[in-house]
Amino acid sequence: MNLNDVTNNPYLLLTPGPLTTTETVKLAMMKDWCTWDDDYNNIVQDIRQKLVRLATNSVDKYSAVLMQGSGSFSVESLIGTTIPKTGKLLVLTNGVYGNRIVKTANILGIDTVVLDSGEVAQPDLDKLSMILDLDKEITHVAVVHCETTTGMLNPIEKVGEIVKKHNRIYIVDAMSSFGGIEMDIDTLGIDYLISSANKCIEGVPGFGFALVNVEEFEKCSANARSLSLDLYDQWKTMEEHNGKWRFTSPTHVVRAFSQALKELEEEGGVSKRAARYRNNQKTLVEGMKKLNFKPLLPEELQSPIITSFYYPEDPSFSFVEFYNKLKAKGFVIYPGKVTNLNTFRIGNIGDVHQKDIESLLAAIEESRYWLKPAFKN
Ligand SMILES: *Cc1c(COP(=O)(O)O)cnc(C)c1O
Repeated sequence: MNLNDVTNNPYLLLTPGPLTTTETVKLAMMKDWCTWDDDYNNIVQDIRQKLVRLATNSVDKYSAVLMQGSGSFSVESLIGTTIPKTGKLLVLTNGVYGNRIVKTANILGIDTVVLDSGEVAQPDLDKLSMILDLDKEITHVAVVHCETTTGMLNPIEKVGEIVKKHNRIYIVDAMSSFGGIEMDIDTLGIDYLISSANKCIEGVPGFGFALVNVEEFEKCSANARSLSLDLYDQWKTMEEHNGKWRFTSPTHVVRAFSQALKELEEEGGVSKRAARYRNNQKTLVEGMKKLNFKPLLPEELQSPIITSFYYPEDPSFSFVEFYNKLKAKGFVIYPGKVTNLNTFRIGNIGDVHQKDIESLLAAIEESRYWLKPAFKN
């Protein structure tokens, strides 16, 4: 087998993860590691320290813990471990991932209330204050940072101010934004943040992680509703045994993630990566508008991570045909997820650069065979 055949991608993934990774991240997976040997555990410890440093300047206040599985496994493990049996969760939702937190909490038997702002609006902050004033039983508030359903960026700073003013625990699903948007979780008042290997850090899928406020997390030893997803036990084991995971860990994925973190540093850190994503997104939207595609969200709600577009008005438009044409030209885009609107999504994260977006736009222009002149204005 030729190495180029192994590492060259047949197409660029313009999806919100798994995403296109660099060849060097993929090559980092070529060695086998022993799951309990120091060589491997030192890599894990290095990753945990780097994650804390990426998240905040208050490095003594927070700790990182890794968990096997996709991002949702980490969300479930965090929700199930940090909320006590007597706790009550308020979830702010405006899309699939907020709703998934609600579903997770319901299955775990956690008392849960929901503030749903619909799929194209941000949470109502006055209502949030009111609910926290009225319902003293609520102990935890959870929100998604970038709601990947639409690409909307939720106001985690303003939500955090209100949650902290009311003295509640603050949980943020920053799955699709951590590493791609600058933040300091201490300044934002975040107690628990969840993300995963295969989004803005640009690793490959296989594990997620949480950043935890140590003082709060220390109180969570008796909460877990699942053995495998006991995040506290996982953390204690990592803390006390130099980065050891309790059960078999995705060693190749972890090694690739370590390489991805190194490449994030080499790129210039989160601010530089954020600038690349913003530039990708701006190039994309400007180009798409020229081709008569309309973004779903107004600019002020839009994240640099992923953008939803309405289908063109031409009734003969077929997303499947559009998708296949672009795939044949080397680009994979994403179907929409908004309930009652016909949309599709294009992501900007991963090893994706301005020239890639420009090539995509050229491919979209070539494929607009269905855009009859009548629909062009
Ligand atoms: C990707 C993502 C998740 C986790 O999804 P998995 O498919 O389990 O990795 C959770 N929340 C958000 C906002 C996401 O973008």
